Amino acid sequence: MKLDLSAFLSSDDIRLNFDGSLKENDTDLSLEDLNLIYPIEYNGYIHNLTGELELCLNISYKFKATCDRCLKEFIKEKETSYIGYNFKDLSLYDDDSVDEYFKIKDDSVDLSEIIFSQIITSIVGKNLCREDCKGLCPRCGKNLNEGTCDCEKGSSEEKFDPRFGKLLDLFKDEEV
Ligand SMILES: [Zn+2]
Ligand SMILES: [Zn+2]
Repeated sequence: MKLDLSAFLSSDDIRLNFDGSLKENDTDLSLEDLNLIYPIEYNGYIHNLTGELELCLNISYKFKATCDRCLKEFIKEKETSYIGYNFKDLSLYDDDSVDEYFKIKDDSVDLSEIIFSQIITSIVGKNLCREDCKGLCPRCGKNLNEGTCDCEKGSSEEKFDPRFGKLLDLFKDEEV
């Protein structure tokens, strides 16, 4: 998905709003591992700051995730945003933070490239099917969100290993 800026750049407008969606074949990258669910929605704007351009993008996407606690598959929705710049003066570019710059080629910006790389950076992190997911029983493997098992009802404290208590005390000391 390329955004054509030729009309905007030759006008006196200082802001160009846009929105759209991306389909699977809008990228050449192989992203199968991300299990994205298409389309990917985005909106944003370009500011013309007297010749330097600022690009802001809000992206919302969905993907098939596996819960880190109970291993159940679920659909996760995520939002991420991007801000980048295009400077006329090349000496302003700093190689260390190259992500914050975007290129303009033939008066257009390749939004797909920016959006997919923003998704790749933002997709990492914890995946929980719900905030209070109880996970699986470490003994029988039952999904404890679906009910309790017969393994060790209410005995987690009785079975508390005193050595862990010492460890916990150590951590407390460090925090002070
Ligand atoms: Zn879960
Ligand atoms: Zn169990």
